Amino acid sequence: MSMVFASSHPLVAHKLTVLRSTDTEPKKFRELIREIAALLTYEATADLQLLPRTVQTPLQKMSGYELQEKIGLVPILRAGLGMVEGVWDLMPSAEVWHIGLYRDEKTLKPVEYYNKLPIEPRVSVCLVLDPMLATGGSAVATIDIMKRWGVKKIKFLGIIGAPEGIEMMQRHHPEVPIYLAAIDEKLNQNGYILPGLGDAGDRQFGTG
Ligand code: URA
Repeated sequence: MSMVFASSHPLVAHKLTVLRSTDTEPKKFRELIREIAALLTYEATADLQLLPRTVQTPLQKMSGYELQEKIGLVPILRAGLGMVEGVWDLMPSAEVWHIGLYRDEKTLKPVEYYNKLPIEPRVSVCLVLDPMLATGGSAVATIDIMKRWGVKKIKFLGIIGAPEGIEMMQRHHPEVPIYLAAIDEKLNQNGYILPGLGDAGDRQFGTG
């Protein structure tokens, strides 16, 4: 069973409430997505491996650390894009690999339309980014692609998860931990999360 982490941090709770509000304009919405993504990254990277590294301070040499693992960010287009900047704020050397999936309006199933991954993965840890874990279809499909690509360690970072999406992830990828700002009640008949925040892509890009 995968670990599901729903943040209980007051900053996350506060920012998420503003994010949900219909009064929040795209500029503020993008800022909040970025900030919440950074706060979740702090939690999701707590187990990254370190290597010893000597550093010279102005006073003396000491032994410190550097990150051992090469990190890849995989935002699911298009709503996942807004989370990249927040993760990059903390890990500027992470590589970003784009996977384009859209949800077929009738079947609600993900359809891949963009994938430019190199043949061999150059990263050892992948963070898959999508603000809304709704049906779980896109997340499961993206992680399928990451596994076929050969990435060993994968984590999912979202903002809001629905129980249906979490269950789908646990069925298909039980070893992939899920980091969220909140778990909401359910999906409606159109696959939107209730209470949710509406369409995360439209609200970031002003296309609603
Ligand atoms: N995608 C969104 O942007 N919002 C939802 O509520 C569900 C899927």
